[in-house]
Amino acid sequence: MTTVSDAQARILAQVDALAPPELVPVGQCLGRVVAEDVRSSMDVPPTDNSAVDGYAIVSDDIPATARRDLEVIAELAAGSVYEGVLRSGQALRIMTGAPMPAGAGTVYPQEIVTREGGRISVPTIERGANVRERGEDVKTGAVVLPAGTVLRPQELGVAASLGLAQLLVSQRPRVAVLSTGDEVVEPGFERKPGQIYDSNRLALRGLAQAAGAQVTDHGIVPDIFEELRQNLLEAAATSDVVLTSGGVSVGDYDLVKAVLQDVGGIDFWQVAMQPGRPIAVGRIGAAHFFGLPGNPVACMLTFHLFVRPTLYKIAGRRELFAPRFHAVALEPMRKKVGRREFKRGILRYTDDRWEVETTGPQGSGILTSMTYANCVIVVEEERGNVAAGERVWVEPLGWA
Ligand code: AMP
Ligand code: MG
Repeated sequence: MTTVSDAQARILAQVDALAPPELVPVGQCLGRVVAEDVRSSMDVPPTDNSAVDGYAIVSDDIPATARRDLEVIAELAAGSVYEGVLRSGQALRIMTGAPMPAGAGTVYPQEIVTREGGRISVPTIERGANVRERGEDVKTGAVVLPAGTVLRPQELGVAASLGLAQLLVSQRPRVAVLSTGDEVVEPGFERKPGQIYDSNRLALRGLAQAAGAQVTDHGIVPDIFEELRQNLLEAAATSDVVLTSGGVSVGDYDLVKAVLQDVGGIDFWQVAMQPGRPIAVGRIGAAHFFGLPGNPVACMLTFHLFVRPTLYKIAGRRELFAPRFHAVALEPMRKKVGRREFKRGILRYTDDRWEVETTGPQGSGILTSMTYANCVIVVEEERGNVAAGERVWVEPLGWA
């Protein structure tokens, strides 16, 4: 049986980044991935400027002790420039963000200054205080957003601070999602005896969207070879990645493997993990295919482990995997040696340490466990049962 890490490596070895990138207005770039290094063609801030509302002065005028009187010669708002040169004995009333006048090197916050008419009295202060230096944020020529950076709100703000109106970003992977199973029904429709509502498709759509993909929904396909075949071919023709749920186990109506063999190729389908052991991975034409398990938790987890890194690699992201760190297990956990097990966990920081407990029953059909969880507890292959107090790995959910 293939290990999780081997499966991830084998899958990712087949995945290339999507070309070509596209130019997109910065305002529409949230969640997109920068396709080339973004360099700054300017200093940010573009000039030395005041960090406070107060008075700019010549630094040599700072009194070493006691106070000193200075003459207020003009007033400067943000957005204006003082054309003259500030001389010894003078102060310029200045607002936050206004450029420092020539000659000035220090700004007094107005709160520590006493003003009478056209004069102020100032105490001692650190030389250069309250001045924001030209280029202290970004210097001309610096690589501000390296290729592969995901554009979060702060990256969009930085791009805007450089005056950029559009960015070259990678295309969003196109993902097709469909559910298999004669027993699954669309919510909003009548559920007959023996049927269940389709939860996987909506969960997968959400996961794919959150991972930056454009999703097309191909609905529910019954367990009929020809129907599944047609639907997979159609989905693959217009997508980079095709996701199905269900039908990959060893039941009589588990058709995904057979259909995949017919229309493309299977790489493997058994991964040493719990939940989620049956998974079919392969190709249909140019599209990557993932036949995810029907059990809802296994379905989401296999997306987390195999599909999301694939989508990230297609989009050219640098970090493909969720970060992982240690926490102390608050309860014993059953674990079989020889496979990697994933439990839904609640992680919190208490008494100076990270602690984690499970969400309760861990059946791979118990989807509410995912709603209580804020992390996945990862117990490695070589480990057996976990005792309370032992360290375990956790991967925060909803992080990457
Ligand atoms: P299967 O691998 O098709 O036998 O499915 C395994 C289990 O997952 C069965 O209990 C199915 O009823 C359930 N299942 C399959 N597809 C879905 C779905 N789209 N939503 C919720 N449960 C599903
Ligand atoms: Mg089925």
